[in-house]
Amino acid sequence: MWALAMASEMALDERSDNFVRFEIIMQMLARSLTCLFPAVLILFLLICGAGFAEKKIQKNDGKPLRALLVTGGGYHDYKKQKTILTEGISKRANVEWDIFIGDAAKTKAKLSEDGWADDYDVIVYNLCHAHETDGNFVEALSKVHREGKAAVVLHCSMHSYHWKVPGETKHWPAMLGVTSPRHGKHAPIEVTNLAKDHAVMKGFPKKWTTPKGELYHIDKTWPSATVLAKGSIDGGKKFHDCVWVNTYGKGRVFGTTLGHHNETMSEDNYLGLVTRGLLWATGNLE
Ligand SMILES: [Zn+2]
Repeated sequence: MWALAMASEMALDERSDNFVRFEIIMQMLARSLTCLFPAVLILFLLICGAGFAEKKIQKNDGKPLRALLVTGGGYHDYKKQKTILTEGISKRANVEWDIFIGDAAKTKAKLSEDGWADDYDVIVYNLCHAHETDGNFVEALSKVHREGKAAVVLHCSMHSYHWKVPGETKHWPAMLGVTSPRHGKHAPIEVTNLAKDHAVMKGFPKKWTTPKGELYHIDKTWPSATVLAKGSIDGGKKFHDCVWVNTYGKGRVFGTTLGHHNETMSEDNYLGLVTRGLLWATGNLE
């Protein structure tokens, strides 16, 4: 009986010894974690910071760029695209936005106001107003950019403001850097990077196939433009220039006919490309 009591007491002692040892280890662990916590926190912040810095393609001296998105017209989901573009670009660079969305008449009225572009570093056009016939309006609009206002021109901007303008003076295509008369059938576009060393194309793959596509035919690339990428929908039998930069008087222009589908415009390759184009046009990327 005594022996049994001793044995169980020893077992109890052993358990309580183990418990004390366990408690000491836990206290030591807690102390070392407390000591390590600031280091772990700093490491965590550094990792997050690195990720954040990677997201931002470039900041322009901490001061946000002021951009106006002019959008609207038929055939495209401009309501969603205004969010895709402005949020996508602002995630990648320090850009603040105003957005104007309207039909052809309202857009014409807005872009005819005195000083409509004065508050902005860059105007981004993602619009489709192909039936404008007023040459004076288009000339005045183009002049804003000829005098130095940076522009980013996307997709159906290339079919706007020139098809039905009478006469030979085609100010808008000269501003764009290309003349496009039509587009081909809907199909994914294989985009070939022609200028991997150009700042706008750094980070863009050698080849990229868009999820969906509507390739614009380009009849003329203006001598003032530098082509950065070409696109094909038939495995490379025919190509059309599809990404470029242009200088128009004192103004810098970045353009791409890629776009049309929300799926394409939501891709990182697309938003990164347009962001770098915007930064180049405003002199923030060389
Ligand atoms: Zn389209």
